[in-house]
Amino acid sequence: MAHFPLRLALDGDALVSNWHWLAHRSAGAACGAAMKADGYGLGAREAVKRLQHAGCRDFFVATWAEAAALMPWPGDLNLSVLHGVGAEDLGEAVRSRARPVLNSREQVERWRGTGRPCDVMIDTGFNRLGVSAADVAAGLLDGLDVETIMSHLACADEDGPMNVRQRQDFADVSGRARARRRSLANSAGICLGADYAFDLTRPGLALYGGIPRPEAQGHIRQVVRVEAQIVQRRRVAAGQSIGYNATFIAEAPRELAILNIGYADGYLRAFSGTGRARIGGIEAPVIGRISMDLTTICVDADPTLKEGDWVELDYDLPSAAAQSGLSQYELLTGLGARFERVWK
Ligand SMILES: *Cc1c(COP(=O)(O)O)cnc(C)c1O
Repeated sequence: MAHFPLRLALDGDALVSNWHWLAHRSAGAACGAAMKADGYGLGAREAVKRLQHAGCRDFFVATWAEAAALMPWPGDLNLSVLHGVGAEDLGEAVRSRARPVLNSREQVERWRGTGRPCDVMIDTGFNRLGVSAADVAAGLLDGLDVETIMSHLACADEDGPMNVRQRQDFADVSGRARARRRSLANSAGICLGADYAFDLTRPGLALYGGIPRPEAQGHIRQVVRVEAQIVQRRRVAAGQSIGYNATFIAEAPRELAILNIGYADGYLRAFSGTGRARIGGIEAPVIGRISMDLTTICVDADPTLKEGDWVELDYDLPSAAAQSGLSQYELLTGLGARFERVWK
């Protein structure tokens, strides 16, 4: 097999530890896991295996293609498809082990005749996906076999009146509907407290090391480490420029290392001049523009580094988000296909 010059070092113990913390904070409710976007970039199949082993039973993907990629699906686990069932999905959906989260009147009518179980999303003010409380009150869900009725919080990572309002509206409408379970909270919603947990929670970000709210600080562990090999070492003289558009001019002689990672791997140009690498105890700043496949760091602090050495880029999600201006979600889901994904 060809060698991968860049890798994600994935900490399975940290993933499981994060799930246990979120399950504990879910206060008696079952704790599931959002697996969309290939497990937020980590690799859904491997993440499911570890969370299943830890006791997680409920998983969520966005599309039927994502569900199909996880087949064969273990008989004792639930898999829900968040975008529901479109006209082109129906054939696949009725044969699948997964069930749709119905999001609109059209989807409810499409599914009703199948007689198969489903979940239902209620819109409580997000105005993205979901059926209205008025439609539920008018009997839209009559005759459906609803496993889980759910809604989604718009502002759970902030404090404000909307969280309480959505929670109250969801309690009202889900109390009237006939469903086996009720589910509202994502990662940030779990942090808001036990009244947001209902019967089932749906964390994503915090499982993978994101800190959605201050309550999670100190409990959620980093899962993903980004590592790349040095392609070339180089020394530039004072006055030389570095990289595309010569955005960095060395004011003194500099020791450089060119790394095997770039924006095509999700290490975006937002890290140009702001990112940093860690080698042992030292810090090596990213200098100049990030290229498609390459990134330059200054290694004045350790000139013994050489071609082939591995370097870790700082990808602790809150601090990498601060460096780059990207969200913690974008930092995870942008991680590209060229990494070897190595679980420990
Ligand atoms: C993505 C998603 C989640 C998980 O959200 P996080 O903020 O990553 O915890 C939960 N519920 C729904 C409906 C989602 O789309």
